[in-house]
Amino acid sequence: MNNPLLVSSGLPSFADIRPEHVAPALAQRLQEARDALERVVACGESPTWENLAAPLADALDQLDQMWGVVSHMNAVVSSPALRDAYNTGLPLLTAFHSDVSQDARLFARYRALRDGTLFVTLPEAQQKAIDNALRDFRLGGVELPEPQRVRFKALQEEKAQSSATFDDHVLDATQEFSFLVADEKELAGLPADVIAEARVQAEKNKQQGWRLTLLAPCYRPVMQYAEQRSLRAALHRAYVTRASELGVDPAHDNTALIGRLLTLRAEEAELLGYPHYGAVSLVPKMAGSVDEVLAFLGDLAKRVRPFAERDLAALKTFARETLGLEALMPWDVAFASEKMKQRDYAFSDQEVRAYFPEEKVLNGLFRVIETLFGLAVGAAPTETWHPDVRHFELRDETSGDVIGRFYLDLYAREKKQGGAWMNGALPLRVTRDGMQKPVVYLTCNFPAPVDGKPAIFAHDDVLTLFHEFGHGLHQLLTREPTPGVSGLEGFEWDAVELPSQLMENFCWEWDVVEAMSGHVETGEPLPRELFDKMRAARNFQAGLHLLRQIEFGIFDMRLHATRLVPNARAVLNSVRREIAVVAYADYDRFENGFGHIFAGGYAAGYYSYLWAEVLSSDAYGLFEEEGGVSAKTGRRLRDEILGCGSVRNALQSFIAFRDRPPQMEAFLRHNGIIGVVDETVNEV
Ligand SMILES: [Zn+2]
Repeated sequence: MNNPLLVSSGLPSFADIRPEHVAPALAQRLQEARDALERVVACGESPTWENLAAPLADALDQLDQMWGVVSHMNAVVSSPALRDAYNTGLPLLTAFHSDVSQDARLFARYRALRDGTLFVTLPEAQQKAIDNALRDFRLGGVELPEPQRVRFKALQEEKAQSSATFDDHVLDATQEFSFLVADEKELAGLPADVIAEARVQAEKNKQQGWRLTLLAPCYRPVMQYAEQRSLRAALHRAYVTRASELGVDPAHDNTALIGRLLTLRAEEAELLGYPHYGAVSLVPKMAGSVDEVLAFLGDLAKRVRPFAERDLAALKTFARETLGLEALMPWDVAFASEKMKQRDYAFSDQEVRAYFPEEKVLNGLFRVIETLFGLAVGAAPTETWHPDVRHFELRDETSGDVIGRFYLDLYAREKKQGGAWMNGALPLRVTRDGMQKPVVYLTCNFPAPVDGKPAIFAHDDVLTLFHEFGHGLHQLLTREPTPGVSGLEGFEWDAVELPSQLMENFCWEWDVVEAMSGHVETGEPLPRELFDKMRAARNFQAGLHLLRQIEFGIFDMRLHATRLVPNARAVLNSVRREIAVVAYADYDRFENGFGHIFAGGYAAGYYSYLWAEVLSSDAYGLFEEEGGVSAKTGRRLRDEILGCGSVRNALQSFIAFRDRPPQMEAFLRHNGIIGVVDETVNEV
């Protein structure tokens, strides 16, 4: 049978893939992987890298690469049949991976390899990959005696189920509320498209008037623009009580689920022999301990708080003097902020957009990468999954050797998932055919070209492109082909955003922006004056914004850093009393919708956003010291961080790059948290 998904090496011909190829390809790759697993556990010889880790990794690579293509296609050129095939295959794949991680025979072989005399003679990369594998086996509960192992598995299932229900409740609670407005005057201030959509929603529900909802495209503009204060208050109350006992449908109250999830996590930690779930979460991360994370957040809070107070004081003054709002209520904050931003930094996104046509931006980005890392980027046309997609090669500037390849799929279109992301398609590997070069997919959702004119990007889009490219470079510039520690594999989760956020900084360098901007009609670069306004607006209310992130981070860590399950609301209230400067409504039930930590992967990990930004800012500080797009510093970043995979720890790599441990100064400076705040000054 001729199945394009079953190529022996490289990537398949995307155009030939049909939904009916998915199931047989998955079945075959799964069977091969199971056979490989049985072979390595049945092997009579004492375990070596070559008879254990290598053959298993080969089989898992084949499975991952095939499924990577399927899941990529499902995300960017989906169809009902493809989605069905994907959804049918996914549980089979998940079950297989869970079987592998729970396989006591495999664990025993790995442990024998680790404890044997051979281990110290292995290359460092293989040692690290084996240690990582053992760590993941242990966190997967494989070492537990039989009754506990069964309990552990049940815990995992209930956790997954409870998280999914938490998410469903938030989704249902968001959708079940609506607010009918009878008189258009009450909608004053709202953008015309929001009003039109509200009208459509009312008609759809056979109602007269305008129907407002809590979905982001309606809720956000109401909070930012609606002049009618009572309208903002009504929607605000509905929003912050979603999925709580105060919400529309008490069946969607998440309060009990929060307690249940915390209990399950605490039990998991106890089974694994850790003092609490916070400690479990940190095992594969860069942060060393809960105390270290809390000290980091506490220190940050101290530095940021005066700036948040200054932001709030300025906002209150503006609201009183300009908007006549004597007391600034929670439902006034976004509204007053938007008005103040317009007063202080008036420029439109549309105006900026005209200066960033696609080719100019791409050439600017490629120039930066070429200079930093000694590369040449060139188009390498090939067959793809959609005519809009482009394919490029990254070559060594001196030798001309291909380092890696990437696909750019930039425009929003139907049947493509929203957002922006980077996916590895092929990792760097030694194969029978020689060295397999890494390949990545870079996917964005920017506006497509209209009427034959070039696509034009907002500055935010340019930031997104640089961000995703940073992730891509981490995968493409790796020198390490060992499975498990190559590129992003095994890299500490709380440091993963280092390269991506670092790349964003170049979009705020005047030289880079000047070179990558050119007005669609005149070709003129972005005016310096407009750029300066954009830079000033970048840190608008940064103090308030950061303090809120710190509040979430401390709340999350305190919830998970005790053996006894705490009351989430009481913890949040006490964190707010200590940290927050803005007042919250007494009915605020933020925690009942906090999907990051109750439904997503951020439990005892929310601090990672700030943690990684401190790293990326500090790393970028070296570029600033060397004058921006510095080839010398770029080579160093490639040698000490991007190239190393996870053979050594992120902290060791960081220190090798920066010649010292991370510091906070650059992060604070980039966010405008600098200088002494004069407490008596309200206006800024
Ligand atoms: Zn990212």
